[in-house]
Amino acid sequence: MSTPSTAHPDSRTAFARELASHPDHDGITARLRAGHDPDERGWCRHGAHAHRWEQHPCSVLLLADLVAGCAARVPAGGGG
Ligand SMILES: [Zn+2]
Repeated sequence: MSTPSTAHPDSRTAFARELASHPDHDGITARLRAGHDPDERGWCRHGAHAHRWEQHPCSVLLLADLVAGCAARVPAGGGG
């Protein structure tokens, strides 16, 4: 069995690409990152992790980075 040449992107990458194509992707990533700051022990202090600790950078920040990375590769005004 060989993998198909047209690799199917995982759902997280596909989601990030969709967000990156949004005209206000900068605002979206800024909102994603808001409040996700490290505490003195290296944990993310956002209330979303109050009952489930996540190390900083947390999964939300990694998603925001992925969106920003996708947006950097998408030419402005493209995708019409
Ligand atoms: Zn966080």
